[in-house]
Amino acid sequence: MAILRSVRGIFAAGLPGRDRALAGRLMRVIFGCYVLVAVGLTALQMLVAYRAASQRLQDDVAALQRTFSPGIEDAMWRYNGEVLRGILAGMHEIPAVVGVEVLDEAGRRIQAIGSRDGAPSAARRFGTPFSRTFPVVHTDENGRRYPIGSWTVHSDDSIAIEQVKNTLYVILINSALKSVMLWFIFYLVIRTMVGRPLGQIRDYLARIDADTLAAPPLTIEAGGRNELHALAGALNTMRDRLRCSFEENAALMRDLREMNATLQDRIAERTRDLEALAHTDLLTGLFNRRKLDEALAEAAERAQASGAPLALILGDVDNFKSVNDRHGHKVGDQVLVAFAALLRDAVRPTDTLGRWGGEEFMLLCPATDLTAATAIAERLRLRVEATALPEVGPRTCSFGIATLAPGESTDSLVARADAALYRCKRNGRNRVEASPWPRPDAAVPERGAA
Ligand code: GH3
Ligand code: MG
Ligand code: MG
Repeated sequence: MAILRSVRGIFAAGLPGRDRALAGRLMRVIFGCYVLVAVGLTALQMLVAYRAASQRLQDDVAALQRTFSPGIEDAMWRYNGEVLRGILAGMHEIPAVVGVEVLDEAGRRIQAIGSRDGAPSAARRFGTPFSRTFPVVHTDENGRRYPIGSWTVHSDDSIAIEQVKNTLYVILINSALKSVMLWFIFYLVIRTMVGRPLGQIRDYLARIDADTLAAPPLTIEAGGRNELHALAGALNTMRDRLRCSFEENAALMRDLREMNATLQDRIAERTRDLEALAHTDLLTGLFNRRKLDEALAEAAERAQASGAPLALILGDVDNFKSVNDRHGHKVGDQVLVAFAALLRDAVRPTDTLGRWGGEEFMLLCPATDLTAATAIAERLRLRVEATALPEVGPRTCSFGIATLAPGESTDSLVARADAALYRCKRNGRNRVEASPWPRPDAAVPERGAA
């Protein structure tokens, strides 16, 4: 039990976790094979030793004939019972002999000593008694032979077994000592050369940071160069390569992120440009009709929701056709650009100015009632009148004004401003005309309606 405990202790110490299982399995396999081979070889050795001892026993028994037959024959021929008994007693002293009996010619027993239960030698079996019978023949001086009886030697094969038993004990003690020594040697070798290096590799892999792979290279403490050292080397190489590719990937990702950010900036910039372009009148740089439609809808919704007034001023350059006719379309364009700049400089930041179409401009004035809007339009009219435009000198402009009535649509508001503008034209141009709120049941006014 104590040996078993110490052996178990040896396996438990220094071989943690799976390494212990691997070492234990290795030990079981190695010693299983060793025990099988040792038992087989010992059995073979014992068989050979037994066969040799058994053969020696046979030879000893056979040799008795040459030694004792002349004496027995002489004693029987002379009927000398004393001598015969002495011979048998002497023979019985020999270890191979367990009994002897002498028979006369008729098969009657003359003398016997010891055990007599041996089977005939031909039927001899492993570990059982056996016997050999020799004839007794007297030869006279003329050479004539007279059979006078026989004698039988009884022996026992278990004597051969007894002889090899000691050899067996020596072999068993020898094997047990060798086994214990080998057990310790294997334990030390497996632990040093396999268990510890495997444990080191496992601990290293458990410790290493999977994200950065930052760790000193793995070194196997056990000396020598075997597959485990090669495995550690391969792990170090793999770690270095992975780290390189991690770093390359990180650099690529950085570049990619930078490129992506630049691309997104460019897209945002381009989107802003496109949005601005979509809302800009290409000739004058003011908001275009689309933007004015959107701004008008939003301002109207806000005004309807808040109840604050919203004024809309439509300006139309007077007799602009004559500019084109007289100075050409290109000069006409320049006049429109200068006119737009003039208006842009004159309007409030909270107001929205755009080109409504042709030589017509719209100004949206939130939180502005009709009186204030009329004042703004009048101020613009005077400014236009006072400003000399390139090539064509001072020109005039007419302004139609309307403020959003409760529940009124934007179409109706624009139509009323347009109608007011038309009145300006009809009444001599270079004027400001305002449209009163429509009656609740009034239809949307047509251009030229009063
Ligand atoms: P009114 O005082 O009644 O407004 O007379 P008007 O000549 O200004 O008005 P009319 O509608 O008869 O003519 C407007 C002219 O404006 C016709 C058109 O050729 C010109 N026009 C419209 N858009 C542009 C433009 O973008 N560039 C140039 N050069 N001319 C334009
Ligand atoms: Mg016009
Ligand atoms: Mg005009």
